[in-house]
Amino acid sequence: MNIHEYQAKAVLKEFGVPVSRGVPVLKVEEAEAAAKELGGPLWVVKSQIHAGGRGKGKFKEAAAGEKGGVRLAKSIDEVKTFVKEMLGNTLVTIQTGPAGKQVNRLYIEDGSDIEKEFYLSALVDRVTSRVSFVVSTEGGMDIEEVAHSTPEKIHTFSVDPATGIMPHHGRTVAKALNLSGDLAKQAGVLVAKLYKAFVEKDMAMLEINPLIVSKQGELKCLDAKVSFDSNALYRHPDMLALRDETEEDAKEIEASKYDLSYITLDGAIGCMVNGAGLAMATMDIIKLYGMEPANFLDVGGGATKEKVTAAFKIITADPNVKGILVNIFGGIMRCDVIAEGVIAAVKDVGLEVPLVVRLEGTNVELGKRIISESGLNVIPADDLDDAAQKIVKAVKEAE
Ligand code: GDP
Ligand code: MG
Repeated sequence: MNIHEYQAKAVLKEFGVPVSRGVPVLKVEEAEAAAKELGGPLWVVKSQIHAGGRGKGKFKEAAAGEKGGVRLAKSIDEVKTFVKEMLGNTLVTIQTGPAGKQVNRLYIEDGSDIEKEFYLSALVDRVTSRVSFVVSTEGGMDIEEVAHSTPEKIHTFSVDPATGIMPHHGRTVAKALNLSGDLAKQAGVLVAKLYKAFVEKDMAMLEINPLIVSKQGELKCLDAKVSFDSNALYRHPDMLALRDETEEDAKEIEASKYDLSYITLDGAIGCMVNGAGLAMATMDIIKLYGMEPANFLDVGGGATKEKVTAAFKIITADPNVKGILVNIFGGIMRCDVIAEGVIAAVKDVGLEVPLVVRLEGTNVELGKRIISESGLNVIPADDLDDAAQKIVKAVKEAE
C-alpha cells in the first residue's frame, strides 16, 4: 500500500525525522489560510498523487500551465494561483503513464533554500533478507539513470537486524555523501531514525529524493515516498486509515473484496486461472503466441461460485479486454464450480468477446458438460498450448 507524500512526512515526523512544515489542501478556498499559516517568504505547492516525477510532470489541461506538479511560490497570491491551476487537473509524469492522475490534494510547504540534493532510500532486500539502504550524492534526478550510467555513484549497505543501526552505518552514509563535522553527525542521527520508522511501521520501501542540505546547514527530507508491506497492515490500523482508494486501480480494489489475487496489466487477453504458477505460465504462453495478458488473476485453490462470478465480471468490465482465456487445473478447485461461476457471470453481464475455456482435473467432464449445455459461445480447448493459440487467433479474427 502506498501513501501520499504529506502523509509519509507526518509519519516520519513522529520519529523525529526533519521535514519542512506544511499544510495539506483539498479545496481552493483553503489555500490562502494555509499560505498565511506557513508565513513564507517561499512556499512550495506540491501535487499529491501516488507517483513520482511530479516536478518535471505536465498538466493535461493547458490552463494549468506547463510549470509542473511541484512549484515554488514567492507570494500568497502566487500560492493561490498555483492551487487553482493544479487542483482537480490531471498531472502526467514519467511514472503515471500517458493517462496521468487527477490531483485531488495538494501539500503546501515552507520553502527551503537548497545547498545540495542527495538520494537516500531503504527497502527490504530479498537477497540479504535485511533492510538495505541506498545512498547517492546524485539526488533530485532520475536515480535509475544514475544507476545505469554512473553506478559508482550509488552506495548500498544492509543492516543486520540483530544489531540494528550502528554508528558505523551513519559514518558510511556520511562518507558516501561527502559530509563531515556536524552534517556527518546529522546523517548518523537521521539514518537511525529512518531505520526505526521503517521497521516499526513495517515499511516495504522508503525513498527520500531529495534529501537536502539547506543553506542553513541542516539535513532535511524534502520528498518522501513510503509503501507498506500489505501483509503486515493488520498490525497498523493507523497506517491503513491513510489509504487513498482513488489512487488505486478500481478493478484491483474490487478483486481484493473477494480475496482474489488480481493485478491489472496492459494487454488485451483477460485471464482467469487458479494457482499463481499456472497464472504465470498462462501469461507467458499468451506472450509466446504474440499477444499480451490484460491481467494476472489467481482465483485461488478453493474458490466458490460467487468468487468465480466476481472474477469473471471484473475481467469483462475491462474495456481493454478483447478476449478471455479461462485456464483451470482442478485440484481442490472443481471444474464444475468454475463452469457455474462463468455461466452465472455471463448471464448477468453478457459476453461480447471470444472466450476460450480449458478445463482439466477434478470434475472436468461435469464442468465441460455444464458449459456445453449452457448454450454459451465458448471455444473449448484441450491443453494450455491449444488454449493460448485459440484465444490469440479468435481475438485477431475479431479485430
Ligand atoms: P518529485 O518531482 O515528484 O520527486 O517531487 P519532489 O518533492 O522531489 O520535488 C521536485 C523538486 O522540486 C525537488 O527535487 C527540488 O529541486 C524542488 N523542491 C521541492 N521542495 C523545494 C523547496 O522547499 N525549495 C526549493 N528551492 N526547491 C524545492
Ligand atoms: Mg522527489
